Amino acid sequence: MNFEELNLAPAIVQAVREHGYETPTPIQAEAIPAVLAGRDLLGGAQTGTGKTAAFTLPMLHRLSVGERAKSKFGGVAIRALVLTPTRELAAQVEESVRVYGKHLSLTSTVIFGGVGMNPQINAMKRGVDILVATPGRLLDLQQQGFLDLSGVQMLVLDEADRMLDMGFIHDVKKILALVPKEKQSLLFSATFSDEIRDLANNLLKDPLSIQVTPRNTTVQRISQVIHPVGRGKKKALLVHIINQHNWSQVLVFTRTKFGANNVAEYLTKNGIQAMALHGNKSQGARTQALAGFKSGDIRALVATDIAARGIDIDELPHVVNYEIPNVSEDYVHRIGRTGRAGKSGEAVNLVSLDEEGFMMDIERFTKQEIPVQRFEEFMPEPGERAEPIAMGRQTIWGGAGKPPSRDVMAAAAKAARTEMLQRVREKKADAPQGRGNGNGGGQRQRPAA
Ligand code: AMP
Repeated sequence: MNFEELNLAPAIVQAVREHGYETPTPIQAEAIPAVLAGRDLLGGAQTGTGKTAAFTLPMLHRLSVGERAKSKFGGVAIRALVLTPTRELAAQVEESVRVYGKHLSLTSTVIFGGVGMNPQINAMKRGVDILVATPGRLLDLQQQGFLDLSGVQMLVLDEADRMLDMGFIHDVKKILALVPKEKQSLLFSATFSDEIRDLANNLLKDPLSIQVTPRNTTVQRISQVIHPVGRGKKKALLVHIINQHNWSQVLVFTRTKFGANNVAEYLTKNGIQAMALHGNKSQGARTQALAGFKSGDIRALVATDIAARGIDIDELPHVVNYEIPNVSEDYVHRIGRTGRAGKSGEAVNLVSLDEEGFMMDIERFTKQEIPVQRFEEFMPEPGERAEPIAMGRQTIWGGAGKPPSRDVMAAAAKAARTEMLQRVREKKADAPQGRGNGNGGGQRQRPAA
């Protein structure tokens, strides 16, 4: 299959070729003909699969052969609306629209919060063919009377699961009430909870369902290693590894926002320029972190799962799982940030005794045995034992074998929480003017798989 066979307008195929794509990815090969034919779509896909082009290319085609209409402001009516959970993803999707649509005369813009409203208001008055937006700012504009969605013919909900995770369900429902009932709708989600299924059932008419599982092809291309490590030695091991390989760009994953801040601070103190990326950061700080990372000023970006998903950094060579995810799918999402679009990558797992069970689940899920490499000076202390992991109010068991009795779990959870609170208090005492960064309480805590 090649792009010429998909019946896309030659101007679109030309742009895709100029961008260096040779063959459509599996989701593109399946989705593009269906969307061109006007069908609704339910796409089970995460970033890294090529899903953005899967909806953008046929969208551009349909709009380019359709007629422009006028909005109630007298400008161009919005004919396609793409909703995304984050500002970063919105900006990336709109950038893709521009890249693939560069030989067409369609117009697009992106709207998200955290930046001035006036340019966005002016853009809405003039109107665009394609609007990419996050739900919150879009509703702000609507409430102020600057938005006309009555001409929408195509609606895309991108990363719908994340949109719900981030608490946007009411906003999304309000926006759905503003667009015409008769339209083509596409919904993409990496996971399918009951809530997503409800949303899909209400929105989509006789949709084509496509499920792409990049896991094996992606996972198999990425070289992976497990370093066993003592609970208190992880940060030092991370510094050791980054320095040993002289890595200039590494994405480090932690389970919580607190952890991300903590690790980023430690790296910086030890001579490795690092920044944390998570949902509590302001838009300015997030943009700065990403720009610094891309330009090479920041060597390590320390991120939580939610913050890191959807960020498109081409050719990211190294991913470190500083904390092992308790949900195996998250492992695939994380390491999929490297080894993109056919490139090879490297993923390093720092596994304490508390996480050996998670790592075994991941090996079963991805059907592979990951080689183990020991650094003797960073191994667990003699006599060190697995302990349950406290995540917010929940305690999860990630060690090898069966979890200990409920009493032991409860006592360990209490001790871990006390220790965490103590650390937060110490931090506050250190920096009285600083704002608390939270301990990940706002993040979704998925149950142990
Ligand atoms: P996405 O899943 O949309 O975030 O895309 C993941 C990455 O794959 C992006 O860096 C795209 O530029 C790239 N990509 C998308 N489609 C193709 C293709 N057909 N061939 C090569 N790379 C692609």
